[in-house]
Amino acid sequence: MPGNIILTGFFGSGKKTIGRILAEKCGFSFLSTDLFMELEERAILGDAFFPGEEILYHPCSLELAEKISPLSGTVIAWGSRAPFDEEYRKLFSKSDRIVYLHVDHDIFLDRVEHRLLPLEWDRQKLSDLYQELSESHVQADHTCDTSMREAGQAAEEIASALNLPRASEETYSEDIKTDASGKHVIQVGNKLSSFLSDRVKELAPRKVAIISNPLVASLFFNKIAGLCGETEIQAFCVPDGEEFKTLSTAERIYGFLLTEGYSRSDLLIALGGGVIGDLCGFVASTYKRGMPVIQIPTTLLAQVDSAIGGKTGINHSRGKNMIGTFYQPEMVISSTAFLQCLPEREFRNGLAEVIKYAIIRDHKLFSFLADRKSDILARKPETLQQIVSCCSKIKTCIVSKDEREELGIREVLNFGHTVGHMIETLTGYTRYRHGEAVAIGMAVEAQICRDKGFLKKKDCEKILTLISDYSLPVSIPEDIDSTRFKEMLTQDKKVRQDMIRLPVPEKIGRAEVKEVECGKFL
Ligand code: NAD
Repeated sequence: MPGNIILTGFFGSGKKTIGRILAEKCGFSFLSTDLFMELEERAILGDAFFPGEEILYHPCSLELAEKISPLSGTVIAWGSRAPFDEEYRKLFSKSDRIVYLHVDHDIFLDRVEHRLLPLEWDRQKLSDLYQELSESHVQADHTCDTSMREAGQAAEEIASALNLPRASEETYSEDIKTDASGKHVIQVGNKLSSFLSDRVKELAPRKVAIISNPLVASLFFNKIAGLCGETEIQAFCVPDGEEFKTLSTAERIYGFLLTEGYSRSDLLIALGGGVIGDLCGFVASTYKRGMPVIQIPTTLLAQVDSAIGGKTGINHSRGKNMIGTFYQPEMVISSTAFLQCLPEREFRNGLAEVIKYAIIRDHKLFSFLADRKSDILARKPETLQQIVSCCSKIKTCIVSKDEREELGIREVLNFGHTVGHMIETLTGYTRYRHGEAVAIGMAVEAQICRDKGFLKKKDCEKILTLISDYSLPVSIPEDIDSTRFKEMLTQDKKVRQDMIRLPVPEKIGRAEVKEVECGKFL
């Protein structure tokens, strides 16, 4: 994956304007640290954000820089001289590049004359800061003089100097109908299309609230807002992380919606990974007894799994997803463009669920994953499109036969999850991402099926090889206490008379739910 391009330079050097053009030209995402810092603050205070609001300068703190640094393929407009400081530099990967945007002193003073700057910064202070930053530019990988250049020319110069790839003009998308009426649709594509605008127009809300977190909103809010037409639009961010998928966060969202006068015919958009999707879906299903929601999943895991099927959920101190509803979104829009900037670990986290679909339902997808590993890891848009589309169809097909999980059909989606959940619990939900725990679960459960004679040895080996080929873990960590593991297993709600209901792969591409002896574990 390409690294990030970090644009630095003084006020008025054009970081944001050039950054946006450069990102568009090269198929990168764009993030401004000023907006990110602003949204972090508002997420803590519970303040909404409107499109086009002017953002103050915020020097990017080390703590927030740590949150941005795992991104890939992103043009980052970075305020302040921070990227040159040792402690910040350590955060960047080898493939990240710093570009210094130079602007002549007098032109700089002209350009910043009408900008919102900290009050204590008079002309002298500005000149001193200008001097300090200019001296550090020698450490940049490239310097671009923007004094006399138009933003588009500067972006072109940077793209050529850094030999950046150019974005493909090609647009493709596919609609997957999730019910017979054709009303609920999943759209999988490589760009955000007019599909969202058309649906917003059809729903005709008075107001639209985009529920997101500061990182995702600073990457994509402006693009999404631009597709919602003339409707009044606001972003409400909640802090990032599974620990915020709680009733108290939901309550903050209810508070915001009530204060701003949202009615049940207005619209929520869930913009983010599975945490935001579950939380926003839950709020939509309960606010004034239910209001429409559109899911815009931005992680691979959310696109192939959590955004599909209508399960919403929040955590309780006694367990994950203990409170929730079944509530179908108006539509799901999965753009593979969002996946380009996903941190590597999050990308692989989603791949674990993709591998699961291949094992339980699709041997062709399994071969595709084995044969096209380099295209997949390079996140080639057309390859991602095939994967997301294939998984969305598999999940839709299973869910449509057992929407409320009453017939046992949906249980097949839990392959790898019985052991996976136990590993997550025993390691306190901090060591592994969900997909990583599921990867271990799939490897362990496949071996149980092999030992029990349900699955051929050769197929089991292929499963283990594919999981480890994607650098996902395949064995239970040694420090997990096997007695505690067995105890947890026997307490599992799926266990009756020492038999547990497990999705059992009989061959690659086909799994059925069967009763398996608990004694077969470990
Ligand atoms: P997540 O939502 O926490 O996202 C992971 C991280 O990626 C976050 O830090 C997020 O800010 C960041 N991120 C999101 N999109 C990004 C992008 N495009 N670029 C860069 N960073 C981005 O985690 P997740 O893995 O997406 O979802 C996990 C959640 O999903 C869990 O709460 C789980 O319970 C839930 N889930 C629900 C279902 C369901 O059926 N409802 C199914 C599976 C999982």
